[in-house]
Amino acid sequence: MIRVKNLNKFFGEKQVLKDVSCEIQDNEVICVIGPSGSGKSTFLRCLNALEKAQSGTVELNKYQVTDPQTDLNSLRSHVGMVFQRFNLFPHMTALQNIRLAPEKVAGKSAAEGEKQARELLKRVGLEEKADAYPNELSGGQQQRVAIARALAMNPQVILFDEPTSALDPEMVGEVLDVIKSLAHHGRTMIVVTHEMGFARQVSDRIFFMDEGQIVETGTPAEIFDHPKTERARTFLSKVL
Ligand code: ADP
Ligand code: MG
Repeated sequence: MIRVKNLNKFFGEKQVLKDVSCEIQDNEVICVIGPSGSGKSTFLRCLNALEKAQSGTVELNKYQVTDPQTDLNSLRSHVGMVFQRFNLFPHMTALQNIRLAPEKVAGKSAAEGEKQARELLKRVGLEEKADAYPNELSGGQQQRVAIARALAMNPQVILFDEPTSALDPEMVGEVLDVIKSLAHHGRTMIVVTHEMGFARQVSDRIFFMDEGQIVETGTPAEIFDHPKTERARTFLSKVL
């Protein structure tokens, strides 16, 4: 489903991705962990061409993401993204935020768009908040709306970049529960997270990144209980 080969990314002189290669299967749930500044967000953003690498290739389904000819709007309609900050449109209600792309980009009718948006709100436990504006919602609720909005295009892949890092601690659980409920429903998910309990529970595989490289990959048991590299051991000793 996703094949990354020899990806190199520089910001100026600084190399932030160093020859990164990996393969991710359909329906897999991957958590990406690693220290701050190790290139996790940049890696994620290269998968939907929000960042362009200087060399290497990314294939995602039928899309050659790194090919300049690729229709990025079409690509991105198949790849949902949920950010640390919820990025909802502040002048639109929860329902309107969710309806926007399906109706404006995918050409759904207003009736279909509304029906689907209400179903999605229900799925994230917020049916009663359809008409609330973002500033009337808690951070956890806003993030759940953002997840519903990402789901509205029925993406084959969803990328989450630290979806709970900007939340007050008491709201982390409700958002992680929603993400868990989405796993293994015919969708590939890649989640950058510092929530190690969640990563252990939800992932098929963990990618450990450090200094621009995927240093180690494995099942949660392999990574958390038997890390092979000193770098993973050192990181895990600080966060577990
Ligand atoms: P992580 O998500 O693991 O914390 P990032 O991918 O955000 O790491 O960043 C990797 C490195 O790239 C960091 O050193 C960061 O400062 C740098 N970086 C990220 N984005 C930019 C940018 N737009 N311009 C310059 N440097 C950047
Ligand atoms: Mg980041």
